[in-house]
Formats: sequence, C-alpha cells, structure tokens
Amino acid sequence: MKTLYDKIWDSHIVVPETDAPAILYIDLHLIHEVTTPQAFTGLRRRGLKVRRPDKTVATMDHSIPTTSRSLIGFDEIAANQVRTLAQNCKDFGIALYDLESPKQGIVHVIGPELGVTQPGKTIVCGDSHTSTHGAFGALAHGIGTSEVEMVLATQCLLQRKSKNSRVDFDGRLQPGVTAKDMILALIGKIGTGGGTGSVFEFMGTAVRGLDMEARMTICNMSIEGGARAGLVAPDDTTFQYLSGREFSPKAKSWDEAVARWKKLPSDDGAHYDHSITIDVNALEPMITYGTNPGMAIPLTGRVPQPQNDADAAALKYMALEPGQALLGHPVDVVFIGSCTNSRLSDLRNAAHLMKGRKVNSSVRMLVVPGSYEVKRQAEAEGLDKIFKEAGAEWREAGCSMCIAMNGDAVPAGKVAVSTSNRNFEGRQGRGARTLLASPLTAAASAVEGRVADPRRLGGLS
Ligand code: SF4
Repeated sequence: MKTLYDKIWDSHIVVPETDAPAILYIDLHLIHEVTTPQAFTGLRRRGLKVRRPDKTVATMDHSIPTTSRSLIGFDEIAANQVRTLAQNCKDFGIALYDLESPKQGIVHVIGPELGVTQPGKTIVCGDSHTSTHGAFGALAHGIGTSEVEMVLATQCLLQRKSKNSRVDFDGRLQPGVTAKDMILALIGKIGTGGGTGSVFEFMGTAVRGLDMEARMTICNMSIEGGARAGLVAPDDTTFQYLSGREFSPKAKSWDEAVARWKKLPSDDGAHYDHSITIDVNALEPMITYGTNPGMAIPLTGRVPQPQNDADAAALKYMALEPGQALLGHPVDVVFIGSCTNSRLSDLRNAAHLMKGRKVNSSVRMLVVPGSYEVKRQAEAEGLDKIFKEAGAEWREAGCSMCIAMNGDAVPAGKVAVSTSNRNFEGRQGRGARTLLASPLTAAASAVEGRVADPRRLGGLS
C-alpha cells in the first residue's frame, strides 16, 4: 500500500537512499533569473553542459519591472540578472520565455499553463514555492543554488525521503471563504514548523471540490507550513485542466498518460506518519497579524497574546497590540498578485467584488497578473477595466510586490494587505507591514481603506 508520494519517489530513484541521500531523477527543471547565475558559472568553470536542456524551462519573473516590458532605465543590478539569464539560456540551449514572449510569467504560473507541469513528475526550481506544482500530483519542491547546478549538470538531485503527512479538509466552504483561507487556517493551526520533514497530501471533500487554481494556492503555501512539498492526487479536474495545453501529451499519448496518472492516487490503507483534519464548514476568511504565515487568525478574531519573545517582537514590528481587532485596521497598500493568488480566478474574484466600487483614497492598489496569458484573458473579460476604473494600477506580469526586488515595494511603516505568501520582516520592502489574505479580503480592504470582511460587501457565492 503506497501513498502518492511513495509512488512518485519510488519511480524516480536512480540510486536508493542509504547512509547517503538517494539520487532522484528530475523530470522538469524550472529556472529563472535570480538563482541561476552562479549555477551557470559553475558549469562553465567545470566545462559541463546542461544534461537535459529539453527538460529545462526558463522564464523571467523576480527581478523584472511590471510597469512595462522595457529594461531601459530599470535598476541595473536587476536588469543585469535578466540579461545574464538570456545569455545563459542561449549558450546552453534552454527554452526561455523572456519579456518579449506572450508566454512569460511567474515560473509557478506558466508551468501549469504550458502543460509542462504534469502528474507523477518530479519538478524542481530554485524557488521555495515550487510546491505549487504539487496541485497536479507532481512531487515539486524548491532547491538551493548549488542544487540548481547539480540538476543542470546531471538531471538528478541528492534527496532524503520525507515522511507522509495527510491533511484532510472536509466540509463545504461558505461564501467569501477561499483556498487561501484554508491554507492559512492550516498553517495557523500547525505553525510554520508543523510540516517539517514531511510531504503534505491534501485530501478531503473540500479539496476535491476545488478547481486547479485553488489547489495551486493551497500547495503553493505548503512550504510555509514547513513541509518539503504538497500534493493533491490527480483526478478528472486535473485532466480537464491539462487537456489540450501546449506541452500536454496528445492523441494516443494523452490516453496512455491519463491511464498512467489514474494509478497515482494513494492506495486505500496506505500509511501516513501524521494526519490532521480541518473542518471547513465553519471556516472564516483568514488574515495574518505577525511576521510569519503561522501567525494567522480569522478575520473577525483578535491579535493573540504573545507566547514568547519572538511573538512580542513580531507584534512590535507590526505595531499591533494583543487583543486588538484587525477588522477596521487602516491599510495603505493592497497587492493582488504572486504565485499564490495571481491567476484568472483570483482576478475574477477580486474584480467581481470591486465592480462599480472605488479604491479608497488612502490606499494604493496594485493588481499584477501572474502571467502574460492571465493578463490577456483578464483583459478579454474586461477585468482590467474594472480595476482601472476603481483606481487600481493594472500591471504587467511578474513577482512584483511579493518580493520587492523589482521596483515594486511597500514603503517603511506602511500596512499592506497582500495575497502573496510571505509576511516576513522586510519581505515587501524595508519596514513594510504585511497582512496576508485572500484576493476577496484584499479587494474588500482596498475599497474600505481598512481591513474589511468581503462577506459584508455582499454578492459572493
Ligand atoms: S511570486 Fe513571490 S513567492 Fe512566487 S515565485 Fe515570485 S517571488 Fe517567489
């Protein structure tokens, strides 16, 4: 009896784990401009080629401007990273979706869009939120710079097997409550170390009812709960999403792939080392109040008493007091974007709530699509007009304010409601105070100029 994780692991072992880590074959290596320059320098120094350029896909996302597609006048260090990636891809024969490409976007948004993310694959990238691709039943996780070099050179990775952790989300989500709230509720419950040494498998009726974009939101933040990766077993929802995509198998190969993918779900009776169940029937929209994603409470809750010095330091940084309600807390910036919540359904949710309303005059709101393709589809539906008429900035695709290394940053001391995945000190800019929440909560807060409950604005299903 094997879990989904066991099955993928076993089918990718080149050399089993002993005292030394296993050597694991990697099906897909996603790369971007930030974690690759040293890796390519290392290859050149050792006279090595990229072992499988055909299994390596590159894009530009972290360091790029979202105001335009031009690097003219842009930060020279960031622009240099972008140019270096372009040169490395050219020299080593790697497909690159650059700023000119209609397929460019955040690496974890374009992988699924292109159909290169597929069930049963092992996928790595020099970015923590590679766990996103686990929504397709792929074993996907972030790797460090030296590991990027290792995978480029060998298409393999040294790995130790993690434990199996089962997370059941059962019940039915209420209007205004989303996948982002589910994952914040989990991390709020187990803490940022709760999944350490494990791979989460997300299951239960609430997960089965989610579309692929919502499943990606959940898997994206697995790493914030300390897990190595997050997985959702592939099902008809997965197959429908992948059908017809550029790099999905076609014709007879598609039928064979689906038959193979249908064998991936965990066997009945498979062993899990840990399990946790969350009843979503009573789940409320969630929001963070501190400086890690585990410091999360229901939107209607109050900031808890600090349990230790780190908690107290977090509240000091956030300028919040124990017992304080977050609802009504003044907001300066609202950011809708990032690989957690920048897909079409996220933008539709936010636009639905903002239609006919205005961004509060005290708020600066940025809406940043996760990819050029998301932007194109959103514009075809008129979502851009809704945001612009409301007074929000409608941007080009990229990581933007998720990481503040590209010109988009929250000023020091200002409060941002953000749909991204990290609220660490300085993550959105030096001294920035980040409250993580769903696109619905972010949109409601933009309208009201303070942390707001989207359910109060009505019209939600
Ligand atoms: S959006 Fe943020 S978390 Fe996602 S890849 Fe970019 S920087 Fe990393």
